Amino acid sequence: MSSETTGPKSQVASLTADDYARLETLDAEALVRFGLERFGQRIAIASSFGLEDVVLIDLAARTGIPFRVFTLDTGRLNQETYDLIDRVRNRYGVDIEILFPDPTEVEPMVRAHGPNLFYDSIELRKRCCHVRKVAPLQRVLSTLNAWMTGLRRDQNTTRTLVPKVEVEELTGRLKLSPLADWTWDAVRAWVRENRVPYSVLHDRGYPSVGCGPCTRAVSEGEDLRAGRWWWENPETKECGLHVR
Ligand code: SF4
Repeated sequence: MSSETTGPKSQVASLTADDYARLETLDAEALVRFGLERFGQRIAIASSFGLEDVVLIDLAARTGIPFRVFTLDTGRLNQETYDLIDRVRNRYGVDIEILFPDPTEVEPMVRAHGPNLFYDSIELRKRCCHVRKVAPLQRVLSTLNAWMTGLRRDQNTTRTLVPKVEVEELTGRLKLSPLADWTWDAVRAWVRENRVPYSVLHDRGYPSVGCGPCTRAVSEGEDLRAGRWWWENPETKECGLHVR
């Protein structure tokens, strides 16, 4: 049976414990290649167009294998992110699957709590992330047997244990994080040396790219995730896309 017709549990179940141990030792390029060869059109790169995400796209393009990329347009992105999407499309000749939140969820939320509800409480911030990010993500993941992310262990205290390969318990879907053991300097060096298109926001002190109202530049020496939801404690700084 082809990978097009099998669900995540059956396709991923054939991986043995030895396979997982071996995959965890692969470098990023080899792990991206494994994902594309194994899952074809049933795997996609999740991209918010931060520096890690453009590295992943660059690595995928190097394999010569057709690949999918999706992004979540929350409706609150920076113009610079849309500009980068165009540059990536042109450079790699890849369609970017742009997913939007359900207006029947966004409209009553904004009507009840205002357009800047995320500043009012952690609960409202998480609700906004759920409506604008998590729900559209779940929609696209339901079409996939595996996905790739640009998560790295040194991004935040919430990410220090990120494995390169994990199986989501509920769905059986495989999640690959090929850059898990990369440093921020290694990511920047890859982009520089390979002339990978990147967001101009990084040149203005933004280590990560997210929604405009919830992301700011950081100062020298500040934590890399300090610019995300900077009014919250580090322990709460996840949007629900990467629940482990
Ligand atoms: S990052 Fe901010 S604007 Fe974007 S979905 Fe989350 S709370 Fe809403």
